[in-house]
Amino acid sequence: MENQPYSLFSFTDAEEVTFFADLILPIPVPRLFTYRVPRGMADTLKIGARVIVPFGKNNGRVLTAVVARLHNTPPTAYQARYISEVLDEYPLVTSYQLELFRWMAEYYMCCIGDVMNVALPSGLKISSQSKVQFNPDFDYPELLTEFEATLLTELKKQPALSYEELGRLVGEGGNVPALIKSLIGKKAVIVFEEVKEKYIPKMVRKVRLHRNYEEREQLLVLLQRLEKLPKQQEVVMRYLSHVPMQRNPALNQKGLDKTILNQDETLSQSSLTTLIKNDVFQTFEVIQPRFSDNSVSTPVEIKLTDAQQTASQQIMTQFERQNIVLLHGITGSGKTEVYINLIQQALESGSQVLYLLPEIALTTQIVVRLQRVFGDKMGIYHSKFSDNERVEVWKGIVSGQYQFVIGVRSSVFLPFDNLGLIIVDEEHETSYKQHDPAPRYHARDVAIMLAHWQQAKVLLGSATPSLETYYQAKQGRYGLVELFKRFGEATLPNIMLVNTKQEKKQKTMKNEFSSALLQALEMNLERKEQSILFQNRRGYSPYMQCEDCDWTAECSNCAVSLTYHQRDAELRCHYCGHKENVPRVCPTCGSTKVRTIGFGTEKLEDQLQIYFPGSRVLRMDLDTTRAKNAYQQIIQEFEGGQVDMLVGTQMITKGLDFDNVSLVGIFDADRLIHFPDFRATERAFQMLTQVSGRAGRRAGRQGNVLIQTGNPQQTILQKIIENDYKGLYEEEIQERQDFNYPPFSRLIKLTVRHPERIISHQAAERLTNELTDALGSSRVLGPEEPLVERIRNLFLFDILIKIEREKVNVKAVKTYIQERINDILTDKGLRQVSIVVDVDCL
Ligand code: ADP
Ligand code: ZN
Ligand code: ZN
Repeated sequence: MENQPYSLFSFTDAEEVTFFADLILPIPVPRLFTYRVPRGMADTLKIGARVIVPFGKNNGRVLTAVVARLHNTPPTAYQARYISEVLDEYPLVTSYQLELFRWMAEYYMCCIGDVMNVALPSGLKISSQSKVQFNPDFDYPELLTEFEATLLTELKKQPALSYEELGRLVGEGGNVPALIKSLIGKKAVIVFEEVKEKYIPKMVRKVRLHRNYEEREQLLVLLQRLEKLPKQQEVVMRYLSHVPMQRNPALNQKGLDKTILNQDETLSQSSLTTLIKNDVFQTFEVIQPRFSDNSVSTPVEIKLTDAQQTASQQIMTQFERQNIVLLHGITGSGKTEVYINLIQQALESGSQVLYLLPEIALTTQIVVRLQRVFGDKMGIYHSKFSDNERVEVWKGIVSGQYQFVIGVRSSVFLPFDNLGLIIVDEEHETSYKQHDPAPRYHARDVAIMLAHWQQAKVLLGSATPSLETYYQAKQGRYGLVELFKRFGEATLPNIMLVNTKQEKKQKTMKNEFSSALLQALEMNLERKEQSILFQNRRGYSPYMQCEDCDWTAECSNCAVSLTYHQRDAELRCHYCGHKENVPRVCPTCGSTKVRTIGFGTEKLEDQLQIYFPGSRVLRMDLDTTRAKNAYQQIIQEFEGGQVDMLVGTQMITKGLDFDNVSLVGIFDADRLIHFPDFRATERAFQMLTQVSGRAGRRAGRQGNVLIQTGNPQQTILQKIIENDYKGLYEEEIQERQDFNYPPFSRLIKLTVRHPERIISHQAAERLTNELTDALGSSRVLGPEEPLVERIRNLFLFDILIKIEREKVNVKAVKTYIQERINDILTDKGLRQVSIVVDVDCL
């Protein structure tokens, strides 16, 4: 040891030296904090391990932090405190992740603690805010110390204990973090941050025959005995047809879902009850596995079509020269099949694969399709999952259980260390961008960085690529592979425009429905084919207004009108969630002529029932899909054919694949097209093409799409009809170039907020001036009031900064912006001003 050159932990004179660790704390502070490493921990503490530390006044808070650096220089500005507990023997956060956190904090102009906070599932962060719950999966009581066992008994009785409550139970001098750590290690408890995340396992009630009958002889005796009770005999026979014990008696152990017998109408339920009472059958409960594995049983072979095969080969060839390839494939071309093929190849070569999907698409059919191929080798990372489930995926990657993860945007934070391929499906989707809270990152762009560090390939896929991505492909910076044939003999749908202005003149409209659409729906009902109706607005109607005095219902916290929700008979703000009762008379003039204006999905659903009595209509929007499995349920019902029409918001545009849908009706297309944003045309094209793509996905079923518009001449509609993505691209890219918008520039949006409009404006003005001085007026736009200028009682002003892609030192610009922001935030005259920074805003 004496011979070694300087090394952190090799001082012979250990008495004198204290070690320090720079920690990332899960809070929005710009810097790392330095803590002392207690002597006993010095040898084992690793970079990337989690530790528990006291924080705040009088050490009043407890936080989980991650070690970013180890050294022996005490901080100069403050007295370092001691780390209280080390949670990991091995790094939980890999060096790749630490690099990613640092890069994101810098690039997206936020605190590294913000990044870590979003990155780690809350089950990995013990803090004074934590709740501790008994783990219902726990079955190793023999591992517990006596004290732990007592505590667990207490925990079982309660829904959850807070950190403090636990402290009280443990008593003075007890080490709560150490205790929690030990219990987590034994899988006896689950830790989470908010009670709403409470993990409740799904229980399934099952039945099985009494053990005795697992002996063949006994079973025969039983059946003979039941000869005289044919109804009971029938129940047993039915059980045996599901659980073939004659062949393998052990199958009886697992039993059968009780509901299968309950739902069988040909069986006598009272006979079943009698059999249970007589102990012929026993009932028992099991925890339903997270992802029921019924679909996993038979792995399917996928045979690519020639077109898909070619695409797959082209992608592989292009990967030899390019790190990023765009797969531009029309809706229904079977991009998923191509992905599966590439994923298999990557896994075979021993590397990890990440498959990113937009939030909503992930809850559906795709997961089932992939599970059939990859079984339980595939991890699923979804925001609707409980925290415990997320922790499982995280640990499953570290342990090697999951080599392949399919997940939403936050799965870029998972601890991969050997990625070979990242797929970003529907790469144009705006839901890849996180809006709130910081880091306001774009998962596609982060995925590209991640791949860069790990030398992985990235495949971006879409039927309607973002202009940014297509531009890169055109420039030769990304590879480009096209797949312009639908699977099977299916063809793209026939898109027709319906002139609502004309129909209104001729008085053939019925409320929101043109006669053309009503007719088409009618025909589809007769043919027993399904229809999808798209209106990108939820609720019954977006306005409530007084006919006499023009009063409109507005949110008291935000500058927006309240949306009328009929089912719950209330007015709701879609920005802050504020709710009000529906006024019977106008609150201003007392008139009873208060009417609703405009329409959302709820109203359409209502009207469909009127025009097509007896038809079965379902609605899919934020309001009907809040519950955990609501989304799947709607999809399953629609898929099962019990439903004729599905009304929905943009949720129904994403990745759905139904056999029997032959008609798509689109409302209010003009509102999408004329939205005041430079990306509106691109968005409208994407949304309308995607929703149209839900029709006619099977051979022999020509799909039809009807778009209702007041102005059929608009060129964008022609482009949608002709599926002319390239034409749209050429036009749009020219405009972007002329006005120096992305992809020709980068955008940073600063939103200044304050409860008083004057102060908000003042701060925004000052910031704009300072930025303009340094950057020039062509690069700084604003300050401007956004479309909704007040949200949650804060007045907003936007400043948009445009930076050229070339020849500008973006890093320096960002540093400058941050300094100016800090000036304002520390100005005593501008107290309470907050500024949101959104890099690459959408
Ligand atoms: P996209 O994502 O390009 O819109 P999908 O991947 O959803 O298209 O494929 C459309 C439909 O065609 C799916 O139901 C899929 O199962 C089916 N399909 C595509 N390719 C194949 C194939 N090679 N073998 C069997 N079915 C396929
Ligand atoms: Zn009025
Ligand atoms: Zn509001």
